[in-house]
Amino acid sequence: MANTIIIPDSLLPEDGRFGAGPSKIRDDQADALAAAVHSPLGTSHRQAPVRRIVGSIREGLSEFFSLPDGYEVALGNGGASAFWDMACASLISRRAAFGSYGSFSAKFAASAASAPFLESPVVFKGEPGTYRLPELTDGVDAYCWAHNETSTGVMAPVRRVEGSREQGALTLVDATSGAGALPVDIAQTDAYYFSPQKAFGSDGGLWVAVLSPQAVERAERVEAGAKLEGARRWVPPFLSLTSAVANSRKDQTLNTPAVATLIMLENQVRWLNGHGGLDWAVARCAKSASILYSWAERSDYATPFVADVDARSNCVVTIDLDPSVNASQVVSALRDNGIVDTSGYRKLGRNQLRIGVFPSVEPADVQALTECVDYVAQRL
Ligand SMILES: *Cc1c(COP(=O)(O)O)cnc(C)c1O
Repeated sequence: MANTIIIPDSLLPEDGRFGAGPSKIRDDQADALAAAVHSPLGTSHRQAPVRRIVGSIREGLSEFFSLPDGYEVALGNGGASAFWDMACASLISRRAAFGSYGSFSAKFAASAASAPFLESPVVFKGEPGTYRLPELTDGVDAYCWAHNETSTGVMAPVRRVEGSREQGALTLVDATSGAGALPVDIAQTDAYYFSPQKAFGSDGGLWVAVLSPQAVERAERVEAGAKLEGARRWVPPFLSLTSAVANSRKDQTLNTPAVATLIMLENQVRWLNGHGGLDWAVARCAKSASILYSWAERSDYATPFVADVDARSNCVVTIDLDPSVNASQVVSALRDNGIVDTSGYRKLGRNQLRIGVFPSVEPADVQALTECVDYVAQRL
């Protein structure tokens, strides 16, 4: 530890968690857990105390996302990764089109490619650091892409592919790291789904989806078809979206959820709504992100990775460092000082920092982080 860099206390952020997910959990959320020790922690998710929490999450998110008529909030176990498989089993009728521009958007496309009862997906591939939306294609019944590609720090627009509605196709948007941090018009989607360990600052393991009536109808039709004699499709009970919806409507989940995750999520949704909802969260994340991008643009050793200014994510910020400054040494020196989870996405393999600036992160802490990075970079 001879060459440990010690950052002066006066420069340190108050909270050093900058992960892109799992992300900072606010003290108030942890206090909500402590307050729940005798109930509802350790009690049945089929009884009123836990169901009230699920109900509050569903109502709070309906308000937060200003749900259009007929849309509803469903949830279940397994995280966004499980929702991909659920979409393959219960939502895509025959063939989906994907925008693929990073690890996460590629994974959903890979799931669809491996489902033996689906036709090969049409994949519109973009280079890492850019986005590419799927384009209108004959025979496609679901268009899929990610609102925020967490592996590269790219945000993409959320609007239906022109002509897709006339075609009867659904729009399925992976909002795992974008939901709660980036603006959205839910009417442009049929499933806007996410996990709670990113902007909602809870733990992982749960998926949440805002569903249109068309998405629910599609799932009913697809699952009914799978029950017909000779059908090739297998809908494992765990991947049945209609079961998830039926349980969600009763403020329950198909199988046992982590009650702690629900409690922290409920607290966060109330906190966000109490501060002004989505508009407030969007503005706060944009402010934090702009602190980082403008610092990098001024810096002589740091540069925003994403060249297109409009595609630079306002919640997961990726910053390339000059080869003379070793990013993994910076990350490790920061970690020695209690500033954690600032490394770039491993598989992207760049000399890069990646900073999660979700609503829970204080913009003042982001400012402090830039000063700490400068302090470390000058002393490596
Ligand atoms: C984190 C993430 C996922 C995976 O979420 P899990 O909860 O681990 O399944 C999927 N998509 C995006 C865009 C993500 O950021």
